[in-house]
Amino acid sequence: VSEEAAGLRLTIDLAALAGNWRRLAALARPAECAAVVKADAYGTGIAAAGPALAAAGARTFFVALPEEGAALRRALKRSAAPEARIYVLNGFFAEAADLYGESRLSPVLGHPGELERWSAWADRGRAALHVDTGMNRLGFTEGEVESLARSGGPGKDVDLLVSHLACADEPEHAINETQLRRFEAARARLKLPRASLANSAGIHMGPGYLQDLVRPGIALYGGASHPQAVSDPVVTAEARILQVRTGHVGETVGYGATETLKRTSRIAILSTGYADGYLRAAGSSDTSSGALVSIEGHLLPLVGRVSMDLLAVDVTDLPEDLAAPGRWAELFGHNVDIDAVARHAGTIAYELLTGLSRRAHRRYVGAGA
Ligand SMILES: *Cc1c(COP(=O)(O)O)cnc(C)c1O
Repeated sequence: VSEEAAGLRLTIDLAALAGNWRRLAALARPAECAAVVKADAYGTGIAAAGPALAAAGARTFFVALPEEGAALRRALKRSAAPEARIYVLNGFFAEAADLYGESRLSPVLGHPGELERWSAWADRGRAALHVDTGMNRLGFTEGEVESLARSGGPGKDVDLLVSHLACADEPEHAINETQLRRFEAARARLKLPRASLANSAGIHMGPGYLQDLVRPGIALYGGASHPQAVSDPVVTAEARILQVRTGHVGETVGYGATETLKRTSRIAILSTGYADGYLRAAGSSDTSSGALVSIEGHLLPLVGRVSMDLLAVDVTDLPEDLAAPGRWAELFGHNVDIDAVARHAGTIAYELLTGLSRRAHRRYVGAGA
């Protein structure tokens, strides 16, 4: 989508992405810092984000699906790390085995049947083993780890032990220590060469959690992860201003007539809605205020519901020339915190970023940084 024809413009700062990775890598040392680039690098675009992270120093990547791994391998071809390790978190899809072979993907094996199918495949390469330590999602159970250990372990081609924290964003939650203890026990029992437990938030939880390899995702892309985490915004989302109209006291704005004007108001209509990934639940009504947007550094409230392709902003308090058709209003970025927008919609920055639609214009800045 060209910028001239777009309603939503996304500016992705690859220098900020690289900077975030370097900061996390320094925090994690001596552990290695990987990069989680699933879901099109959290909506930023894997073709640009992958090589930028490789240039910053990343040599290990995690995706969720084999197709994402294949796209990443293509993107890394002319990068600083064409031979980077690519792990597929959702495991081994036996029907798509060719993709793993061609793109040299390492599945993260999550249950005994999957390990069996992968081990029976001639071109298998290497893999990681996922153990469950409290999430009850993917991973070998304690009992399955025990029987695997008794039958001689998963074999030398499985060279990384993985588990995932359920509550790393709540450092005081008791389940964190329980998970670390269970992980250490599985590690001692299986004796794999390397181990990885921490996501973004886990990196701040103390040296025990770092293990050999950390797996940040959201902190790379500018989302909040942990009370102590520092992360620069990577994505700036801006909507095109279509028109500015005047509404009168007692009139309502938008679907459902949920918000009534209490003063004569200037209302800017922006060319972005929930079909672009700006969440409908972030809207405003007479009983609950919605998210804020920024025009030239001024913070302004949404008025009424977010439509499929449009949203309305109260610009009454803004100097008149600043809200003109053809200008852009920031939905999140350096002036509007992405986590605050997500909170208004009752969700998290992860969902907002990964839901940004294909009809947005994406432009990249800070390349080669
Ligand atoms: C998504 C994911 C990560 C990254 O998590 P963040 O909270 O985004 O840092 C790490 N490990 C696994 C298994 C994941 O699914």
